[in-house]
Amino acid sequence: MNASYTLAIAGVGKIARDQHLPAIAGNPGFELVAIASRNAQVENVRNYTDIGALLAAESGLDAVSLCAPPQVRYAQARAALEAGKHVMLEKPPGASVSEVEALRELARQHNRTLFATWHSRYASAVEPARAWLMKRTIRAVHVRWKEDVRRWHPGQQWIWEPGGLGVFDPGINALSIVTRILPREVLLRGATLHVPSDCATPIAAELDCIDTDDVPVRAEFDWRHGPVEQWEIDVETTDGLLSIAEGGKRLVIAGEPVELEAEREYAALYERFHWLIAHGAEDVDVRPLRLVADAFLLGRHVEVKAFGH
Ligand code: NAP
Repeated sequence: MNASYTLAIAGVGKIARDQHLPAIAGNPGFELVAIASRNAQVENVRNYTDIGALLAAESGLDAVSLCAPPQVRYAQARAALEAGKHVMLEKPPGASVSEVEALRELARQHNRTLFATWHSRYASAVEPARAWLMKRTIRAVHVRWKEDVRRWHPGQQWIWEPGGLGVFDPGINALSIVTRILPREVLLRGATLHVPSDCATPIAAELDCIDTDDVPVRAEFDWRHGPVEQWEIDVETTDGLLSIAEGGKRLVIAGEPVELEAEREYAALYERFHWLIAHGAEDVDVRPLRLVADAFLLGRHVEVKAFGH
């Protein structure tokens, strides 16, 4: 890693503190010089209350990492790209597919790197699973991505608002893995979305998909699950079952546990961002978000009991 880039974070909340700040501190290719957050403060860097003020004051800044909820992603990314910054987007990369397509075009016009991250794709099980599945005959795929929303999203109102995705906020992580490890494209055929009467987004969903060889891909997402999370993907093949568990930390193939490297999702994301900037490249894959959008397009909406915020 040669060049070091100056970096700012916008939206310092749970994921910025849990993952981004430590990952940046551990990467000599980036120097965090500023943040923009309405309430949060970070020590030893310049603090701004909004991204406009940050961009106006930080003319020498190279890159921005956007960690606020998805509803403000587009406006923040657009401002950063127009100010000539490279941009890294937390997942989901936008509140709609069209926003992300527009950002991709804007980044190209400004000759800047746009990196739409999918952190779960950097889980340890993903690349070994992809390599094994490449040469296999797949019969069926089953995704179970279930957790307790009150444990994992305490006090987060934005997940229940339009653009907040509801249970697809974690579910899209599973879709990011599925679209990476399967050798063919996945198409949504139908869905059921369970929407609490006091929310705009689903608390649970079932997706029926196929791949382009008509292999069934079924996903169950549920936020009413607990206390132990279920973040699992099973792929049935003619050579046995491939099972990803714990969100990608565990992999079992045909009954044999596979030895995996230690988890380093966000360290890998910042290494990738650095590489993309250094090579004048982009990485924008909208397929996980497109499947979620398709579920909202084709899904049957069923009202369920109020969540009670
Ligand atoms: P969060 O803590 O609720 O939000 C992050 C911060 O964004 C907030 O603390 C807030 O800081 C700022 N913010 C909130 N609403 C805003 C608005 N309308 N305009 C501008 N800034 C706003 O959420 P999070 O859990 O970190 O998630 C943020 C993103 O990361 C989401 O897209 C999520 O899917 C993704 N993500 C989360 C996790 C996780 O485990 N939580 C894991 C992976 C990815 P200020 O009040 O200081 O402005």
